[in-house]
Amino acid sequence: MEKPIKYMKNAKIIMERGKCSWGRCYFCGWGKKIVDASIEDLKKRYKRFIEKVVKKKGIEVVEILPSGSFLDERQFPREFVKYCIEEAKKAGVKAVIIESRPEFINDEILQYIKVEGIEIHVAIGLEIADDEILLKYYNKGITVKDYLRAVETLRRNGFKVRTYILVNGHPILQDFNLHYKLLKKTMNLVLKMSDSVVIINTYPHLKSELWEDWINLRWKPLDKEQFLKLVGEWAEDPRVELDFNNLNFIPKFPREKKIPLKGVGKEYLLHPYYEVWQDFFVRFYEPPPGKEYLLFAPCSYKKPYTRSKTWRAFLGRISGYPFFKKIHIVVVSTPGVIPYEFINYYPFNAYDWPLWLETEEMKKEYIKVT
Ligand code: SF4
Repeated sequence: MEKPIKYMKNAKIIMERGKCSWGRCYFCGWGKKIVDASIEDLKKRYKRFIEKVVKKKGIEVVEILPSGSFLDERQFPREFVKYCIEEAKKAGVKAVIIESRPEFINDEILQYIKVEGIEIHVAIGLEIADDEILLKYYNKGITVKDYLRAVETLRRNGFKVRTYILVNGHPILQDFNLHYKLLKKTMNLVLKMSDSVVIINTYPHLKSELWEDWINLRWKPLDKEQFLKLVGEWAEDPRVELDFNNLNFIPKFPREKKIPLKGVGKEYLLHPYYEVWQDFFVRFYEPPPGKEYLLFAPCSYKKPYTRSKTWRAFLGRISGYPFFKKIHIVVVSTPGVIPYEFINYYPFNAYDWPLWLETEEMKKEYIKVT
C-alpha cells in the first residue's frame, strides 16, 4: 500500500462481546466489561456500518475495536472475524485493523482468517517496552518477548503489525524524565517492528485502578502541552499516530461513587471530586464558540440551579435578548467555577453548603480556598 495508514480515510466500529480474557490491566476499565451480544446481532450491526458508513463515505481503512481480543475465540469465533474482513474487502476497503493480545496470535488462526486482496493489520497493545512496568505496574500480563514472538508470527503469515503505546498509565510514570527515557527505548524498538504505531494518552477509565488514583489525587492525566512535550518528536513520522484524546475526556463517576456532598467543612471545600473537576476546567476545558460575554452567576440551594427562583428570575430577564446567545454563564460556588454546560453533571447537581452552619473560622477558610 503506497500511502501510510495514518493518511487514509478511516472509520472505526466498536464490536464488543463477552469479556477480555485478561481484564486486569491497571489503567483499563473496558477489559472488565461483560457484554452480552449474539454473533447474529453483531453481523447485522457490521453490515449496517459497511453500507451506511464504509460504502457511502468511500472508507479505505476499517478499524474494529473489540475491548479485548478479536482473535480470542471465546469472544469472537474465527468465522466471524473472517466474515468481517471479507465484507470489508467486498466494500472496496484496502485495509482492516483488528486488535489482539499476543497469546491469541498463532499460525493456525492467521491462516484461517487471511483474505487475499486486503491488508490485515493486527494491533497489539504493548503499551511500553519495559518488563518491569508491564508486569509490576501496568499488570499487563505480557512481556516484551511475548510481543516480539507475536510480531514474528504476524510477519511470517504476511500480516501487518500495528503497535499501541500508552503514556502515563500509572502514577510511577508521572516522573517526566523516567517516562521519557522509557518511551524513547520503547519507540526505538517498536518503530523497527511495526508498520504503524499509535501513541495513546491515558484517561481515568471507570472501574480501573487508575481511576482510584485519579480520584484520590495521586495521578493526573496529561494535558495537550504535557503530552506533546513527551511525544511530540514522533508527530511527523508517517508511521506514528498521536492519540491525545480519543475518549473526549470529562470527569466521570460510577453510580456507587455518586454520593451527595452536603455539609460545611474543609472536607467539602477541598473535596477531591471538586478538585478533579477544577483541574479539568483549567487544563482540558474549552469554552463553547461564539461567546463574547462572561456572566458569573451565584449558585442556588436548589439543584440544578435552573430550577431555583433566582435563576428563573435572571434567566427570564435576559434570555429574550439577541445578545443572550453570546453570553457564557459560569457559576461560582463551593466546588469552584462551573461553566453552564456542566451544571447538570455530578456532583454539581448533588451538593449543598448550608450557609446557616458556617462558622467565622469556616468563612475565612472559604475565602482562602476560593
Ligand atoms: S488493556 Fe486490553 S488486555 Fe488489558 S484489560 Fe483492557 S482490554 Fe484487556
